[in-house]
Amino acid sequence: MTDRTDWPADWNIERLHDDHLQGLRITTEFYDSATEHQRIRVFENPTFGRIMTLDGVVQVTEADNFIYHEMLTHVPILAHGNVKRALIVGGGDGGMAREVLKHDGVEQVTMVEIDGGVVDFCKQYLPGISAGAFDDPRLDLVIADGAAFMKENADFYDVIIVDSTDPVGPGEVLFTDTFYGHARARLAEGGILVTQNGVPFLQGEELTNTMRAFRALFSDATCYLATIPTYAGGPMAFGWGTNGTARQTDLATLRARFEAAGLSTDYYTPEVHQGAFALPPYVARLIP
Ligand code: SAM
Repeated sequence: MTDRTDWPADWNIERLHDDHLQGLRITTEFYDSATEHQRIRVFENPTFGRIMTLDGVVQVTEADNFIYHEMLTHVPILAHGNVKRALIVGGGDGGMAREVLKHDGVEQVTMVEIDGGVVDFCKQYLPGISAGAFDDPRLDLVIADGAAFMKENADFYDVIIVDSTDPVGPGEVLFTDTFYGHARARLAEGGILVTQNGVPFLQGEELTNTMRAFRALFSDATCYLATIPTYAGGPMAFGWGTNGTARQTDLATLRARFEAAGLSTDYYTPEVHQGAFALPPYVARLIP
């Protein structure tokens, strides 16, 4: 992602924004190679543990992935209250499937990942992220472009989770109005679409574009926030779109569902869930 070639070899330098760089020290390099879709690198950092980057951009770390994965799964699933079928678009490291499958009521999870290499390398070098999810009989892994799958598929889902890379390279199609329209058509009644929407302080346009599309598609379209240390620049936004009323689920109901699900979490609580929808004005202004 950088146009300089003289960065120290033992640092991963990420540039997602023209005016901002993030460096992570590499103590051990485990893997660095390219698939037909992207360059995959897995390395160790003393604070964050093993880290996977795609085209130089951090995707997942052993230490802080729990925040991202808990918030993109338990928020829609517990707000909905009766999720049986879930679809994950992207998600090749398996962390999203890990959290969805913690819900016993979930009968089937389809995961559509474009790059089988990500799945293979994460199973080998980051097995703790998926924590056995790929062996769960409820998981159906499809190696395909999520946008093409969404267009052609005829099934319905209670929750659709877009766990994509940023809108460059293969992930770009997952941020288009066409893709969001096809996703809405695949939601069962009361179903919820949630999306990875970048860090609004640095990637505000990305959030605005998604929210404009969601406003045209859903009666309830907003975003919620969580701070994830390796996604630098402030809290990350997650898009939320539904034609149901799940966001009105009250705290007592969320608490009861959380307890009934028997979840052990390190970030998610029903209180954090509700608070995550409180948007600071600088974020609210990005929503058309
Ligand atoms: N949390 C991450 C981040 O930093 O934004 C993203 C996690 S990573 C699991 C995202 C996954 O999306 C990658 O494995 C990538 O191969 C996959 N992906 C990108 N474009 C895709 C597409 N068009 N269809 C399906 N999967 C895609």
